Amino acid sequence: MYGFEYQRPADRAGARAACSGDARYLAGGQSLVQAMKLRLSSVERLVDLGGIADLKGISVDGGRVTIGAMTTHAAVAASPEVRRALPALAELAGGIGDPMVRGMGTIGGSLANADPAACYPAALVGLDSTVHTDRRTIAGDDFFQGLYTTALEEGELITAVSFAVPAKAAYVKYKQPASRFALVGVFVSQGSGGVRVGVTGAKGCAYREPALEQALAASFTPEAAKAVKLPADGMNADLHATAAYRAAMVSVMAARAVAAANAR
Ligand SMILES: Cc1cc2nc3c(=O)[nH]c(=O)nc-3n(C[C@H](O)[C@H](O)[C@H](O)COP(=O)(O)OP(=O)(O)OC[C@H]3O[C@@H](n4cnc5c(N)ncnc54)[C@H](O)[C@@H]3O)c2cc1C
Repeated sequence: MYGFEYQRPADRAGARAACSGDARYLAGGQSLVQAMKLRLSSVERLVDLGGIADLKGISVDGGRVTIGAMTTHAAVAASPEVRRALPALAELAGGIGDPMVRGMGTIGGSLANADPAACYPAALVGLDSTVHTDRRTIAGDDFFQGLYTTALEEGELITAVSFAVPAKAAYVKYKQPASRFALVGVFVSQGSGGVRVGVTGAKGCAYREPALEQALAASFTPEAAKAVKLPADGMNADLHATAAYRAAMVSVMAARAVAAANAR
């Protein structure tokens, strides 16, 4: 690693003050520290959010699940409130990486990082959601802007994320077997606002798939999802899967997610 300064403020105001110039927030370190170790990323100052107690926690109120930015994947997976209100989200969190990654990684870090193959981004766009920051609220639909790019401004701190509880939802991913990141992952939900289909792993960032949403609004069945043939244009291609394979897998994962949502 290149050398860096380390600060661990006790509150949000201290974090904001420390995160100026060439500085980054440090959450679970499961993406940032890896990138720094590989010297893909360097920064003058790391501002550790681990000492700020009010960035952690889960509440369910008025049909919304709200999760503090520093809440770990393990805490979301184990939360009785999330398992009752939004079991699809608890299952998504429980399927991220391995126990160490889940014990350290956070929902705020995962969203801010905007890895194209990460799981939480599919839920952010697959549900009616809001990202809360120290400056404003950002609709989940407007949060991702491209590869590792979000609507966050320089030094903007995610404080929490909230999700409307749908009538039905499920997340299914086709796992990269070594990391368990999504080669393709699909989060489907059906609620008062209609059907949403959030896709991760297939393009530069998580997105909603209108062709699947239209088909599932007409018939919320695995058969309707499977019948949607998506073009390969714009899909990711790498040594793990071609663009055409990923395009086909989006419909397959959506069909499996609908089957799981209907089976609850
Ligand atoms: C082996 C391995 C397997 C993995 N498998 C999966 C998987 O299957 N699915 C999946 O989704 N993910 C997976 N991950 C990634 C993991 O989920 C991480 O938790 C996630 O990438 C980043 O979260 P973090 O809390 O560690 O953030 P960090 O690495 O600490 O930070 C990531 C970025 O977010 C910024 N940031 C952090 N918190 C905030 C905040 N509150 N406000 C603003 N910016 C912030 C940081 O400055 C940094 O730029 C895996 C990681 C590893 C190492």
